Amino acid sequence: MPGGEKGIQIFLRVRPSKKPSGWIEQDEADRRQLKFHVPLQGRDLIVNNTRTDYRFKFNGILDMPAGQEEVFDKVGSQAVLNALDGFNSTIFAYGQTGSGKTFTITGGSERYVDRGIIPRAISMLFSEFKSRTDVQYNAFISYLEIYNNTGYDLLSSDHDSGVKLNDMKKVSMLEDEDGRYHLKNLSMHPVASEEDALNCLFLGDTNRAISETDMNLQSSRSHCIFTISIEGRKGGEDSVRRSKLHLVDLAGSERVGKSGTAGQTLTEAKHINSSLFYLEQVIVALHEKATKGRAHIPYRNSMMTSVLRDSLGGNCKTVMVATISPDERNTDESISTCNFAQRVA
Ligand code: ADP
Ligand code: MG
Repeated sequence: MPGGEKGIQIFLRVRPSKKPSGWIEQDEADRRQLKFHVPLQGRDLIVNNTRTDYRFKFNGILDMPAGQEEVFDKVGSQAVLNALDGFNSTIFAYGQTGSGKTFTITGGSERYVDRGIIPRAISMLFSEFKSRTDVQYNAFISYLEIYNNTGYDLLSSDHDSGVKLNDMKKVSMLEDEDGRYHLKNLSMHPVASEEDALNCLFLGDTNRAISETDMNLQSSRSHCIFTISIEGRKGGEDSVRRSKLHLVDLAGSERVGKSGTAGQTLTEAKHINSSLFYLEQVIVALHEKATKGRAHIPYRNSMMTSVLRDSLGGNCKTVMVATISPDERNTDESISTCNFAQRVA
């Protein structure tokens, strides 16, 4: 499937609606609220709200009934194959809080079928490692949380007992003499099996939950980047091919309420808005580099873009899942999410 104009593929995922007694059926959801239509081979979304009609284009729409397996097939598996072939890949989930970013990237914890992209990517990687007998693979995991533009290692060893965010070692970017970037204090864990890798995910998510409670911080306020680094050595060859797969659960994209926003929330909001804006800037600049020979890419403006600097654009595969809720009260945020998606597409 061709990418968007800017080399990034954008999918829209519409989560099912919820009522107190459980998930409502799609038909009912349609009738009740969604003034969204999904015509034209599932590529276009039309939103009619009372004032304006909007039309958005995507590489694909994952509508309410789409399960995790379908999402992985359409969104995740190509990125995994790309990483196995030695290219860096990044998958983002972008959307307002509650729209299904974590469900998409990590999955629901109750049912096995609700596993998200990370556990499915891990599973696929290890089965590919086994079947590609001509290459010897090694894999490493790191898990970074970025809060107010500061990085925290979700897998550092002091975390085993659940350390508070403020006491955690901060992760920083270092530039060496050759202008190459390194992350200081972000641990990399060798994983020999699917189970090892899933344990890293589980430990990191536990630490994420602990740090959130500690800081009175909701997961919606931080970005999390789960990175699988792969080394492949072909039989008889000395050279090692390295690649990375980043699975990114972005902070909630909602605009913070107009009233009563002060202190911590306001600081967070500023950091979130600017880091999402800098991400957009980098994607747009990469497009201008490819089409107009633009030289400068503003990676350094935020921790997120610094970390991903070698994994966006060029030969990298970049996919964004824009997640929206069908509820009418969220229409403005849904439109704003679609607008962001169109700007980077
Ligand atoms: P976000 O990370 O964007 O804040 P979550 O992924 O936590 O949102 O989703 C909010 C709630 O909705 C969670 O309880 C989640 O399990 C549920 N949910 C989200 N998307 C889906 C989906 N496609 N199918 C079923 N449940 C979903
Ligand atoms: Mg979340």
